[in-house]
Amino acid sequence: MKIALNNLTVSYQRHPAVHHASGEFAIGEATAIFGPNGAGKSTLLKTMMGALKPDAGSVQLSGLAVCDMAYLPQQSEIDRSLPVSVTDLVATGLWHESGAFGRMRRSGLIRVEEALHQVGLHGFAARPVSALSSGQFQRVLFARILVQDARLILLDEPFNAVDAKTTFDLLELVRRWKEEGRTVIAVLHDYEQVRAYFPYTLLMGREIIAWGKTDAVLNDANLRRAVERTASWHDSAPVCRTDGEAA
Ligand code: ADP
Ligand code: MG
Repeated sequence: MKIALNNLTVSYQRHPAVHHASGEFAIGEATAIFGPNGAGKSTLLKTMMGALKPDAGSVQLSGLAVCDMAYLPQQSEIDRSLPVSVTDLVATGLWHESGAFGRMRRSGLIRVEEALHQVGLHGFAARPVSALSSGQFQRVLFARILVQDARLILLDEPFNAVDAKTTFDLLELVRRWKEEGRTVIAVLHDYEQVRAYFPYTLLMGREIIAWGKTDAVLNDANLRRAVERTASWHDSAPVCRTDGEAA
């Protein structure tokens, strides 16, 4: 298995949000993606899961099928008013086994119940999703990842607007995923969380500022550079010619 970025450039209206990024993710490990707002973090995750197309370069996902990848978008991008129950939403994590509109088998239902139990939502199965707090909703999304049983798990700011107890419980799940040999890549903003749970960090500022062991990456000089590089790209920045020169 190999998860790598090969000279990846991704743009919106030709303004690059991720610029000439190259490197390899540690397999079976947890990597934090760190950087200021607008640094290209969400753009990178969306490109990795195939929702955005690169302008140049590529994301290499060797030895992984689509169903091996789980993705949790930023909360602001999720419609929480869905008229579905907790069980319905968690069961969508079984899509690759049951077929989109297939009837859920008894074994699937048991896995959904187990996952709800593991995220501390025992007894919530029939609850409408729209009636959950944001912490409970995030637990449901983690339960969905549990039933999907994915080998690569991409999380975009999973703990924003989530209470401390829920954050702790879900970070413990991340620890377990790591122990199980899964690869976790998560956009985070909290140093302590990164230091405690994520041995590797990719620091972004529209380009890769630093990538490696968390302790080596998260220093003042690198963080300052990430902020500067992010701020120096603005909407009137030159469009990107894919040969690496600004036009
Ligand atoms: P981050 O997740 O690090 O905050 P994003 O990847 O969301 O950053 O965005 C990177 C840059 O791309 C920002 O300047 C943002 O305004 C721009 N951007 C993001 N999405 C779009 C879009 N759909 N259309 C145009 N520009 C976008
Ligand atoms: Mg983002």
